[in-house]
Amino acid sequence: KDTFNKIAAGEVVERPASVVKELIENSIDAKATEIYVEILEGGEKLIKIVDNGEGILEEDMRSAFLPHATSKIRTADDLFSIVTMGFRGEALSSISSVSRVLMRSKAVDNDGREILVEGGEIRYEKFSPMDQGTLMEIRDLFYNVPARKKFLKSPSREGSIISEIVSKISMAHPQISFRLMVEGKEVLRTYGTGNQKDVIRQVYNKKVYENLFYFENHYDSFSVFGYIGNEEISRGSRSHETIFVNKRLVQSKVITTAAEKAFKSFATVSRFPFFVINIEVFPEIIDVNIHPQKAEIKFEDESHIFKSVFGTIHSAMGEGLK
Ligand code: ADP
Ligand code: MG
Repeated sequence: KDTFNKIAAGEVVERPASVVKELIENSIDAKATEIYVEILEGGEKLIKIVDNGEGILEEDMRSAFLPHATSKIRTADDLFSIVTMGFRGEALSSISSVSRVLMRSKAVDNDGREILVEGGEIRYEKFSPMDQGTLMEIRDLFYNVPARKKFLKSPSREGSIISEIVSKISMAHPQISFRLMVEGKEVLRTYGTGNQKDVIRQVYNKKVYENLFYFENHYDSFSVFGYIGNEEISRGSRSHETIFVNKRLVQSKVITTAAEKAFKSFATVSRFPFFVINIEVFPEIIDVNIHPQKAEIKFEDESHIFKSVFGTIHSAMGEGLK
């Protein structure tokens, strides 16, 4: 059982940033409006996440760590209309099998409880009063999987990967205020204004923020909106190209190509654009049951998506430059 869980953990927990992503998604699913993240030594020593979400019922605290324990899917039909970020019920069991996890949580009408799980074993569980919400502390990630520990990059590199993922998630959720502390320094703060452009301003610099084209369009089965810009930050990399489908960070070759092509019709220099593209679709239309790490998304009608994204951005930039 132990070996199986450690292997399974590799699917979900590749590096500290994957832990951060899973835990933040749990906070989002719990309808948190404030999410605090803190990491030490690139997340290897400590990943701490505090949210003001719904919390976990006292009687559910232990089972949250069991494999395939999810409170988010109740019937087989739910699988086809997933609106929560998580649904596999694998994250907590995987993370806790390769680290020491302290979870404290309080749901409404409960007193609050804490539980310590080390390498998949429950060490203790006890009464622990607190405000409504959940606190997770992940210590000594991969302490019992030295092979995986060896593959981690330097703490500062792991820290930047975490900053990047938290920044991107915060852009997808402008109504949530995020605060990220890396090695004792605040590296990101957003204010939950509900406006994505405000978050872009916090994540990137003023110059980017002041040179953005807004685009938006609605189609029968989906909507597309976002910002595209022309600032130097992109240079030779695509790291400032961000795509969300139903607020999930994804990779999409069609969308990327469409946006770059639209951008190139106006750009005077050849480099990658800065963009944030949001697609909202009925959950039925996309296949979210993809590998947790390789988030390449598939659409039923790729050429329709291509034309829509291209057309939307092209006309917004054309208007903006007139
Ligand atoms: P999943 O998110 O796929 O359901 P996880 O392993 O990530 O599975 O989490 C297991 C369960 O623990 C969740 O279904 C949820 O009930 C509970 N949980 C985890 N984190 C939180 C949180 N921050 N707030 C409230 N409940 C949580
Ligand atoms: Mg989850």
